[in-house]
Amino acid sequence: MPEGHDVEHDTAEISSEYECLQCGKIVRAETHPGECPECGGDFQNRAKSLE
Ligand SMILES: [Zn+2]
Repeated sequence: MPEGHDVEHDTAEISSEYECLQCGKIVRAETHPGECPECGGDFQNRAKSLE
């Protein structure tokens, strides 16, 4: 494999997982998804540590 190519090696972590606090639905989004499309509940960013 030739070196010097502009290889896309980093597709990681531009988005975060959010979990619905009410129904547990998981979505991936770059920004906060707002409210859950399933139940209208609030999402919490799973990447953040819980208090
Ligand atoms: Zn929900």
